[in-house]
Amino acid sequence: MEISELLRQLTEAVGVSGDEKEVRLLLRDLIAEHVEEWRVDSMGNLLAMKRGTGESDLRVLVDAHMDEVGLMITDAESDGTLKFETVGGIADHTLLGKVVQVGPKKLTGVIGARPIHLLKRDQRTSVVKSDSMRIDIGATKKENASGKVKLGDRATFLTAYQESGKMAMGKALDDRAGCAALVELLRREPYPFDLHAAFTVQEEVGLRGAQVAAYATRPDVALVLECTPAYDLPNKRDVSPNVRLGHGPSLYVMDSATIQDPRFVRHIMRTAESNGIPFQVRQPGGGGTNAGAIQRVHGGVVTATIATPARYIHAPISMINLDDFGNVVRLAEATLRGLNRDLFER
Ligand SMILES: [Zn+2]
Repeated sequence: MEISELLRQLTEAVGVSGDEKEVRLLLRDLIAEHVEEWRVDSMGNLLAMKRGTGESDLRVLVDAHMDEVGLMITDAESDGTLKFETVGGIADHTLLGKVVQVGPKKLTGVIGARPIHLLKRDQRTSVVKSDSMRIDIGATKKENASGKVKLGDRATFLTAYQESGKMAMGKALDDRAGCAALVELLRREPYPFDLHAAFTVQEEVGLRGAQVAAYATRPDVALVLECTPAYDLPNKRDVSPNVRLGHGPSLYVMDSATIQDPRFVRHIMRTAESNGIPFQVRQPGGGGTNAGAIQRVHGGVVTATIATPARYIHAPISMINLDDFGNVVRLAEATLRGLNRDLFER
């Protein structure tokens, strides 16, 4: 399957944290013939193993999270509109007026916005808080709405995948781009060691699935495939461009959850240099990836993250550069093939 089709299927699938089944089933079908075994654990992580050539006994885990930020329905009002909570980090101002798909039946709804004609002057310039927003699925009464949607159902943006030149746009590229990269890695020739793959749940609500997956897999080394915010947004004055689209995979050094293993980061950088793959170091700072959870299980795991930069993540539509995505796959593959115990000797 072509990359474009892979990204389309993965980004159009729905998997708000804790309800990742649709994404999991899709991924299972995509990887089944390329792995020796797969299983789903009690949290819903999809864990697979691709048999290696036997040259190395390293235990290696590659992680990508399946879940996406979204909404959870918490109540139906008497007028038939739906109250909701956000699941994962979503800024209130990205929600108003957006089209969403609600519940397992994927009912179309709109996060109602008062037309500008009806707004007072100060309302036109202030941000509406998400707790005063409602999803309108066209129901006119509470009974009517609650017959169609159950409390606890998830909702997410309704966004069709599109491409324009090198750019790919879709919802949930964080982290379906990582999932797509991991699918690609599993389709390649066997690695020197058995490759354990974890498509994990509930990253966006606190790295929860990865903690369980890492504990069960007991890796020596773990590589996290992520999608990280690009700061090259069209700005009036770009004071500090961090990672930019089209400038290669982004490497983490430190974030709020992890100091990435410096030996592993060095190995990735050397691999990039010797293969002529561009890369950019993400400025140390906030954010976090599943590396934060994986690094600290059992006696500790050598962990690093390679990410595809994306504009506008955690919003209805995000954008990546397909060359960056291709280079994430190339860099991750070369990094894995070059792994050996000597790299991590103290
Ligand atoms: Zn992510």
